[in-house]
Amino acid sequence: MDKAFASQADLEEKRITFAELGGGAYAYTAEGDPNTGVVVGDDSVMVLDTQATPIMARDVIERSRGVTQQPIRYVVLTHYHAVRVLGASAYGAPNIVASQDTRDLIAERGQQDYSSEVERFPRLFRAVESIPGLTWPNITFRGEMRIWLGRTEVQLLQLGRGHTKGDTVAWLPESQVLFSGDLVEFGATPYTGDAYLEEWPATLERLAALKPRALVPGRGDAVVGRDRCLLAIEQTREFVSELLASVRSGRTVGRDLKEIYRETCERLRPKFGSFAIFDHCMPFDVSRAYDEAGGIRDPRIWTAERDKEMWQALES
Ligand SMILES: [Zn+2]
Repeated sequence: MDKAFASQADLEEKRITFAELGGGAYAYTAEGDPNTGVVVGDDSVMVLDTQATPIMARDVIERSRGVTQQPIRYVVLTHYHAVRVLGASAYGAPNIVASQDTRDLIAERGQQDYSSEVERFPRLFRAVESIPGLTWPNITFRGEMRIWLGRTEVQLLQLGRGHTKGDTVAWLPESQVLFSGDLVEFGATPYTGDAYLEEWPATLERLAALKPRALVPGRGDAVVGRDRCLLAIEQTREFVSELLASVRSGRTVGRDLKEIYRETCERLRPKFGSFAIFDHCMPFDVSRAYDEAGGIRDPRIWTAERDKEMWQALES
């Protein structure tokens, strides 16, 4: 292979920031690595996405303990990806909450995703042996759920499909803070290997309609200010739309996947090439866009083997 597989060559540790956003909301971010959200209420704490391993999650717990001694009662999974959910056991939370669609995806493909993600991005799975197994939500919902941390209301909303079938955002109506999961990235490349690209922009419009004052994206720095939140949402929409349009136009003129991959990278690189994990994401992103443009409605399951075969085919 000409290029190291996925992010196997990405070994440099990132600087972690734990930023207060108001209304009890905090963003645990790390220069484009997967983010975790924390909401501190009067009587309990909620964690949104866990980090990839229990050992990595300990750092989230330590930083939270710097601002509250309330118990962590809720862990919310914005979607099923291993890098976001497999640290859950560290929090000892009695309630692990996700959409029913996310739980279904864990049952259907959680194990394959676990094996595949560990090999794609070993740095993000520090102390991988501390993972006790898949994370199973014990509370699920469809559409909408409200959780009260004392007087702090958290709305868990499924506003449509995009990054995955089960995407959930968390919205704090009083402080107007939005935790978007990987539906929105900021300065990081959206991963679309398990996405519904055609539906994603409409979902983003519903996020934008909330008019967030602050936004914690799936990757990238926390965003503060209405205009900047809309900019983050818009940048994500542009990436998703331009990716799908490029792949569709290649298919229309009869190009094969590898040609379409090369063309699409060339088209998107000037605008998005500086975003984190661009080179990691593009092979997966174009592969899924190619499938979707060809009428494959649900994303095919990635396995460690399929990952390598695809990479070899596109990057050799
Ligand atoms: Zn994800």
